[in-house]
Parts: sequence; structure tokens; C-alpha cells
Amino acid sequence: MLMNELLEQIYKDASSKIGQGQVAQYIPALADVDPNQFGVAICDIKGNVYSIGDANIPFSIQSISKVYSLTLAMQRLGNKVWDRVGTEPSGLPFNSLVQLEHEQGVPRNPFINAGALVVADMIESSFSTPSLAIKNFARTLAANPDIQIDANVAASEYQHKARNAAMAYLMQSFGNFNNEVEQVLMSYFSSCALKMSCVDLAKSFSYLANKGQCVFSQQRILEEHQTRQVNALMATSGLYDEAGKFAFEVGFPGKSGVGGGIVAIVPGVLSICVWSPALNQTGNSFVGIEALKLLSSHIDWSIY
Ligand code: GLU
Repeated sequence: MLMNELLEQIYKDASSKIGQGQVAQYIPALADVDPNQFGVAICDIKGNVYSIGDANIPFSIQSISKVYSLTLAMQRLGNKVWDRVGTEPSGLPFNSLVQLEHEQGVPRNPFINAGALVVADMIESSFSTPSLAIKNFARTLAANPDIQIDANVAASEYQHKARNAAMAYLMQSFGNFNNEVEQVLMSYFSSCALKMSCVDLAKSFSYLANKGQCVFSQQRILEEHQTRQVNALMATSGLYDEAGKFAFEVGFPGKSGVGGGIVAIVPGVLSICVWSPALNQTGNSFVGIEALKLLSSHIDWSIY
């Protein structure tokens, strides 16, 4: 099947699920988003981009940004990253504090909030203007100089920061946080508040499908073995508490965000972004998961 036909088929079938699920409520600025939007974009490793539906509408990428931050931290610090954050799935909600206390302030992985905050702390120590560094990184990877941070969303998150602040202070009490907590929170929320479209996201993740090299800038972003590590973390911890089910039913590394976006990688072949804002009970896009299940069954491919 040709890529455009495949996209049309997936789009048509997954659209039947629009209307189910609920837009994230805990970040007020996200609660107003129209839940019925749906877009899909695919970027193959030759740089061909295919898209359908609302694939050019920028949305709040939220936790998908954790992959950019981790990548920047790995570029700067290499294996030292793993002294401060683990590589195991957590089995608990993404913003849980319980495990952090038990495990002495070392978060299970970089994709739960505590882990992303430690990574944000590493970035804070490595760049003079961390939020600008992440924005520029996203712009380069997506080959789009117009990508912006949504200041409203960042401010809204900052006003409702209590849980993330609690995690950061807890880690500070265990000696696993080096910078001013409030400052790191601002940088973290700014990266979550990046606004990007499905096309931007699919393009920007091309390096994870292409052994660490960005398809658009031709820059080496990560070494090959590091690329495998990031994909492995996405496969085991990228979809909140649904990572196991996602591996079972879809079989690709992926990373989701509460803005309703999900990015997935078919290593050596393509990167894909699906977006539809209404979420299932686990916090993943309802329609997005459906679209990725359809993609996997159509191309009959899994990393397993
Ligand atoms: N900025 C959100 C938070 O820290 C990210 C949530 C997400 O997408 O998982 O709660």
C-alpha cells in the first residue's frame, strides 16, 4: 500500500473514535482545546513527509519534550546522566511521589516527571538559557524556525506547580538536585509548553529512526548506541502506565504527552506523530493510540 493510501485508511478508521476520552483538565490552559481535532504525520528516513487532517496545527507537546531534554543531556553528559536517573519502568503514575521517597530521590526513568525534572536540572547546569536551548534544538530538528513556546501554557503550569515542585524539593533533600528549584521548574514548564504540529514532531524525531542522525540537518544528534538507548526507554516507559499494553498492541517505541500528541518510531524506517487532544484514562490520546494500532497492523511490523 502507498504511504498516502495507508494514511487515509488509518485516518478514516481512527476518526470513528473521535468523541471518546477527555481533554487534560489539570492544566487549565489545556482544558480549552477543541477535543475533536485529529492529525497524523509520517516522516520516512529519506525525508519524505506525509500528512493528513490537522497535521499542521501546533499543539502543546507536553511530555514529548522530555525526549529532547534527555537527548540534550546525553549529548552534554554522556553516561553521567545515568548516575542520577534510572532506566526502569516505574509502574506508578507519572507524577507519583511515593517511589521517589523509597528510592532515595533517584527517579526510575527520565520520562516520569521526577526523572524529567532531574534531567531539566542537568540542562540548567549545562546551558545559560535552557528554555532557549531546547526551543532552538526543536527548531533545528524540525527544520522550522517558527516553533514557539506558549507562554500562557507555561504560566498556567507554573501556577499549578505544587506536585512537580514537591518532587524537585524531595530530590534536593536527597542531594539529587543542584539548581534553584523554581528556576528549573520554569525551564521545565517552558519546554513542555513548546507548540509544535504533527509535521514538526514527526520531522524532529527523524534522528531516532535514522541511527542518531537528523534527516533534515544531517547533523549527528546521538551516537548509534545512544539512539538505541533512547528508543528502549521510549518502548519501556514512554506511554505512562500503558507502556506494556502499547508494546503488546503496537510494538514501537513511543512518547506521549497530555496535550494529546504521541510520537512513535519505526527504527530504520520512519517517525510518526499522531495528535488528538482527548485522552484515555491513562493520559494517552484516545484516537492517537487507535491510529498507531492501525498503523502497526497495516504495516505488520513490530520491534519485537
Ligand atoms: N507539563 C506536564 C506536567 O509536568 C507534563 C505532563 C505530561 O505530558 O505527561 O505535569
